Amino acid sequence: MTFKILNNCNLIRNNTLALQSTAEYFCEVINTADLREALTFARSKNLAVTVLGAGSNVVLKNNLYGLVININLKGIRHSIDGNNVVLSVAAGENWSKLVEYALRNNWYGLENLVQIPGSVGAAPIQNIGAYGVELSDVFISLDAMDIRTGEINSLPHKLCEFGYRDSIFKRKRKNRYIILEIKIKLSLTADVQYDYPLLSEALKKDTQKPTGPITPHIVARTISDIRRRKYPDPSIIANVGSFFKNPVLNSDSVSRFLECNPLAPVFEINGAEYKVAAGWLIERCGFKGFRSGNVGMSSEQALVLLNYGNASSRELLQFSESVKQQVLSVFGISLELEPSVYGSF
Ligand SMILES: Cc1cc2nc3c(=O)[nH]c(=O)nc-3n(C[C@H](O)[C@H](O)[C@H](O)COP(=O)(O)OP(=O)(O)OC[C@H]3O[C@@H](n4cnc5c(N)ncnc54)[C@H](O)[C@@H]3O)c2cc1C
Repeated sequence: MTFKILNNCNLIRNNTLALQSTAEYFCEVINTADLREALTFARSKNLAVTVLGAGSNVVLKNNLYGLVININLKGIRHSIDGNNVVLSVAAGENWSKLVEYALRNNWYGLENLVQIPGSVGAAPIQNIGAYGVELSDVFISLDAMDIRTGEINSLPHKLCEFGYRDSIFKRKRKNRYIILEIKIKLSLTADVQYDYPLLSEALKKDTQKPTGPITPHIVARTISDIRRRKYPDPSIIANVGSFFKNPVLNSDSVSRFLECNPLAPVFEINGAEYKVAAGWLIERCGFKGFRSGNVGMSSEQALVLLNYGNASSRELLQFSESVKQQVLSVFGISLELEPSVYGSF
């Protein structure tokens, strides 16, 4: 396939919210030579660069000026050292297929992250997480190209400054790097994590599961079942999964919050900070299953904002703003968007 840069490209198929958005320039890169050519093109025209994987965590406004680069680098290498398996995975690999590949090989550590849509290269951006496990638990390092200089840098775990749905790439180093490959460490020995309440309850209720210890394969199957019930499939109804992050409160604020809302689900993060379930706040404000025009919040999972058809980015963001305002006025808690917003109306 020859490398091409397209002009005025419709991105409706490049974002799982199915928003109509036009990229001034667009290209897909399958190797680093293409990527260098793309960056040279952007520099020669003084264009801003936006990086896209599978588009499952972005809100694209009508116009994306500059060059949009879709990262599609492929390849998985592994080495085994004692009980550890080190995997080097190219940014364009599909995350969910990587988890299945690891499980087929009996390499453990990714099972709780099964069925998260999107690309491997995007996983460090918000430190993807689910059911008590985050990418940072298995992450070693990544290789990334500096958009300004074209240099390739290796960033170890510490420099990525991972947090809850957060990393340095969402803050100090926002839009600075293009991730090319990540390195993760898995294990040949199972060490299953199933303390997460929804998961442990589902495992208790599962009468079909084989007797004996709970294996990573059982954990992955149980989570897949929960996810199928909770998350609408974006190919059927457009969405980006959770639209808001769970707000994090310090101990004083959480005590005040719990005095007024004793039944609210709250999870301790580190002894000093607590996550409040944003879905619960949204549901209490009456938005679960509520639809307005082309957008609404899912009736299965109040955190998931849906595009029922022809929603524009403006309509969608106005609706999300009304959800935020209502939660703020009822609970005094400010919700933060999980997806990144790009472009202009
Ligand atoms: C149904 C559904 C369920 C979901 N469930 C979860 C969940 O349980 N946990 C969770 O954490 N997330 C979840 N998500 C969100 C999403 O799957 C993840 O954030 C995923 O990592 C996004 O990957 P992507 O390739 O689609 O990234 P995109 O949406 O294309 O991009 C997301 C961000 O990453 C940047 N980016 C992408 N690739 C690169 C790269 N190679 N280099 C530098 N920057 C890059 C983009 O610029 C953008 O800022 C869910 C989404 C959906 C639709």
